[in-house]
Amino acid sequence: MASPLIVPPRLLLGPGPSLCAPEVLRAMATPLLGHLDPAFLRIMDVTKERLRSAFRTKNRLTLPLPGTGSAGTEAIIVNFIEPGDRVIVGVNGVFGGRLADQARRIGARVETIDVPFGEAIDPDAIEAALKRERAAAVVIVHAETSTGVLQPNIPEIAASAHRHGALFLLDCVTSLGGTPLEIDAWGVDGAYSGTQKCLSVPPGLSPATFSETAMAKLKARTTPIPSWYLDLSMIDAYWGSERAYHHTAPISMVYALHEGLGLLLDEGLEASFARHRRVQDFLLAGLSELGLKPLVPAAIRLPMLTSILIPDGVDDASIRKALYERFNIEIGGGLGTLKGKVWRVGLMGHGAREENVLTLLGALRELLRNTK
Ligand SMILES: *Cc1c(COP(=O)(O)O)cnc(C)c1O
Repeated sequence: MASPLIVPPRLLLGPGPSLCAPEVLRAMATPLLGHLDPAFLRIMDVTKERLRSAFRTKNRLTLPLPGTGSAGTEAIIVNFIEPGDRVIVGVNGVFGGRLADQARRIGARVETIDVPFGEAIDPDAIEAALKRERAAAVVIVHAETSTGVLQPNIPEIAASAHRHGALFLLDCVTSLGGTPLEIDAWGVDGAYSGTQKCLSVPPGLSPATFSETAMAKLKARTTPIPSWYLDLSMIDAYWGSERAYHHTAPISMVYALHEGLGLLLDEGLEASFARHRRVQDFLLAGLSELGLKPLVPAAIRLPMLTSILIPDGVDDASIRKALYERFNIEIGGGLGTLKGKVWRVGLMGHGAREENVLTLLGALRELLRNTK
């Protein structure tokens, strides 16, 4: 027989994928249903309803797109931005940079608001860009996983976009489920997330939600949507009342999301947000004893992803290698301008627990002692 699949028992404390809830893994082993089976359609409906609760929205078009978080990025760009449109993109990390790249690829005129990695976007800079010339959309990242920054002032930025007739689109890949997110109350027209960060589900779906304003903009398009697979009107026909075959829903991933959202809503959104904050406080207290400091100031620090400044004389790669080899722990390295300068520790969803923090702190204590 071919050799069976064997993987090391890793503690996933990086920027994603995060640890899955055991209930979710069990749900994924459930026998398949056909994707148009009435029993599966009911599971799709419950999943959409749970997503509305998690996103805090009444948006009819709320559903998981097929593909990882990046499918959501691509979907908002190809559906809501047309060639020649002027688009304002906030870039304070890698994921904002990717949004700008994707918008350029479809022929948009992209204006980036660039700030150093580790800082937040200034709403006044967006307002000024909107005043200069009409824009079709403002796109920013709520939780910049590449740096650990939580973007404040979202309602203010949304209001500014609306005042100037632009759509407001938001990357919520890492924020959904882990920190307050109010799609309707904040005035977000289009948002997407990912299953592998705070939802305790493997990578594979991109939960997304779109307002009536966004849907009206989609209907008013003058050019065809350049992606067949991510065409929201066709995906809506499948997940909506028509049930028209577009693609085959990734059945086991929908089971997983159904279960992950059930766990999140049973715990309660507020309780989950509080748990992410509490576990990060526990981490920060332990890091401080080791003489380690966070990159991002408290006011704009993401609760579920902590960037830690690597002390002088400590080699980034060899510590992360030893964490794998000796302690079966994964953490992330820095990206872009932060490469080699920070470690990124994710305490997300099911992984956000004090026992995981203790395991990591113990391992870091051991490894840092040996470098001195
Ligand atoms: C992880 C992440 C993505 C991309 O998601 P994938 O699942 O890796 O495709 C996009 N935006 C942010 C903010 C992320 O953290």
